[in-house]
Amino acid sequence: MTDKNCVFCKIANGEIPSEKVYEDEKMLVFKDIEPKAKVHLLAIAKTHFKLLSDADECGMENIKYMLAKIPQIAVANGCKNGYRLIINQGDDAGQTVFHLHIHILGGEVLPW
Ligand code: AMP
Ligand code: ZN
Repeated sequence: MTDKNCVFCKIANGEIPSEKVYEDEKMLVFKDIEPKAKVHLLAIAKTHFKLLSDADECGMENIKYMLAKIPQIAVANGCKNGYRLIINQGDDAGQTVFHLHIHILGGEVLPW
């Protein structure tokens, strides 16, 4: 359920501080520490799984839950004109934290 060496599990349990913008029993949304856009948030499930390809039925329920919540969270945090969602999967995508997360980017017109 959690991985004691995982940075995002530590953020979820409060061991590592973060700028949270939304939290409920299943998910957490916080500001990316190195923002790549005016608004750059990360949505994580409180349950640890590394990759999209590792998501079991419960993992998929969490992803579905997060995708349903993200529109209102994005708008409430400065993405009224739209936003981009990204999941980096694996090394070629540059994934650095192996706890599945959804990047929410916006607050400006994004390049590409
Ligand atoms: P990824 O490359 O998809 O694995 O993205 C990991 C993201 O996590 C990067 O954009 C990092 O800037 C961000 N990140 C890493 N550590 C932290 C942290 N402690 N608090 C907030 N964001 C973080
Ligand atoms: Zn984790």
